[in-house]
Amino acid sequence: MARGLSGPGREYLTEEEQKNAPKITKALLKRVFSYLKPYWKQLVLVILCLLISTSLSLLPTILTGKIIDDGIIGRNLKILIILILMSFGVTLLSNLIGVAQEYLNSWISQHITFDMRNQMYAHLQSMSQRFFTTNNQGDIITRMTSDIEGVKTVISSTFTSILSNSISLIVALVAMFQKNWIMALVGLLCVPLFVIPTRAAGKTRWTLTRQAQEYNDNINGILNETLSVSGQLLVKLFTKEKEEYQKYSDANEKMMKLNLKESMAGRWFRVAISTFSSIGPMLLYLAGGILIMNYDSTLSVGDITVMVALLGRMYMPVNRLLNFHVEWVRSMALFTRIFDYFDMKPEITNCKDPLVPAVSHGEVEFKNVYFHYSPEREILKGISFHLEPGHSIAIVGPSGAGKSTLVNLVPRLYDVTDGEVLFDGNDVRKLDVEYLRDQIGIVTQDTYLFNGTIRENLLYARPDATEDELIDACRKANIYDFISSQEKGLDTVVGNRGLKLSGGEKQRVSIARVLLKDPALMIFDEATSSLDSISEAKIQDAIDPLIKSRTSILIAHRLSTILAADEILVVKNGEVVERGQHKDLITKGGVYTELYNTQFGKDPEKNNNNPPVKAK
Ligand code: ATP
Repeated sequence: MARGLSGPGREYLTEEEQKNAPKITKALLKRVFSYLKPYWKQLVLVILCLLISTSLSLLPTILTGKIIDDGIIGRNLKILIILILMSFGVTLLSNLIGVAQEYLNSWISQHITFDMRNQMYAHLQSMSQRFFTTNNQGDIITRMTSDIEGVKTVISSTFTSILSNSISLIVALVAMFQKNWIMALVGLLCVPLFVIPTRAAGKTRWTLTRQAQEYNDNINGILNETLSVSGQLLVKLFTKEKEEYQKYSDANEKMMKLNLKESMAGRWFRVAISTFSSIGPMLLYLAGGILIMNYDSTLSVGDITVMVALLGRMYMPVNRLLNFHVEWVRSMALFTRIFDYFDMKPEITNCKDPLVPAVSHGEVEFKNVYFHYSPEREILKGISFHLEPGHSIAIVGPSGAGKSTLVNLVPRLYDVTDGEVLFDGNDVRKLDVEYLRDQIGIVTQDTYLFNGTIRENLLYARPDATEDELIDACRKANIYDFISSQEKGLDTVVGNRGLKLSGGEKQRVSIARVLLKDPALMIFDEATSSLDSISEAKIQDAIDPLIKSRTSILIAHRLSTILAADEILVVKNGEVVERGQHKDLITKGGVYTELYNTQFGKDPEKNNNNPPVKAK
């Protein structure tokens, strides 16, 4: 997982990162820079600001020489004061320009990530159901959030840091060589003396930090799993409290020991930095001293002081530029991860000139439909049926037979792999997707309510629905009594995913929601599966008139739901094995009779006064 570019351990690439380093092609660079293009004017300003503020920030260091030589040693108070004021003024100006540059910088990066986020969200919305079922939800969220956040860091800090450090280094070098080339050379030779040992110490510390991060992830994993609502339930029901405590405590102990080690490594790291960074100035003083004493009487104390100060200003830029490769690879990896998503083509799209018929009857026809999620396993094999407008079809069959898959083909959650699905006589692929989905209302197996009030959930189907329409829909879905018994009525909060409501209440709210949508075709996918017989009867009372008044497809394991249907399709292993009405099928002695006997025969509560029928 990408961690963005901040935080500890940013200075080296992990083995995984090295292995997955993206190939940096011209096309990739062009694409990355295409995001910067709309902001090129601001970018030019940023570069100008950087150039000026970085150069100015080095000026006071250079002026120190004059302060010492002309002001202090030359005993000239006026020059001393002027130089000090100049230094102050230059520092102030450099900082002010720095602020402007930072503002511009974050303005650009915020705008680019704003564009990217919107683009990504719109793109994700256009992705098909298959994308969401095959990709890990966490991964999708990571790309939307921390990957794009990482890009912001790249733009606001990586690019500018490379630029400002290069400028600092060049200005410092030029100033040093201009003063005295011998001392400048000595200074240059001192840089590796600092850089090499501190990088080695840094690497050790980095390894420990990474390990700490891994341990931390592990601990977070344990916390997420065991302290979530469902995780806790599992722990309690399997009485795993002690084991889970032990697991957590072990992980916690490992973390503590590592943290101790890491903080000591940090201490050693600082010792290394301060020791090795003091070698350079000492060598410079020595070289300067020898030069002044024996060879170069023009060299002044001020010059030596400036050289030492400039050397100190070189360490950081050298270090940052040595990390350039790391930051570059990471930045490009972030961009490629994001581009990977952008490159995924939406599977379900409108054809050229899609149809938007004026009226819709909800008529559905399957013509020899084949479908698979992956080629190894055919889920639907040659399904054909015709649902006339105003009629209803019930689909029954064993679990996993392909019933939900079949109905998902109507609103084009997936496209057929062979054959045709017609809606009002048109191939669904020729219809405008938005139009098609507007004509269909589905009550799914896994009812989803947003975290909000019942009213908000209902209005999702039709934002302009009046209070009376809301109440009417709730009445029809047999949920109004429950709602009015709540203190806040329609403004009752349903909780995360609707968890504050029972399964039956949730389903009835979702039926009311579909009713508000008022679609031409209704699909009930086991709409009564999580209800007791009383709630089921309530729902049944709601559904029966609906089925009679509009075109509908019902998937049900329960007999009561399907008795009202005009035709029953029995699906097994992706094929329609029987079809007809209840009274005909029940006497056939086939799959339906078997289903009927196993599901309704032995359970008097579900029996609805229909006696089990013996297979012939
Ligand atoms: P149930 O009555 O249990 O809901 P069903 O008849 O509705 O079953 P489907 O949900 O259509 O069955 O599933 C048919 C088969 O397709 C199952 O074997 C299931 O594992 C598989 N399947 C369902 N959804 C997917 C998916 N998104 N990707 C891959 N396979 C899937």
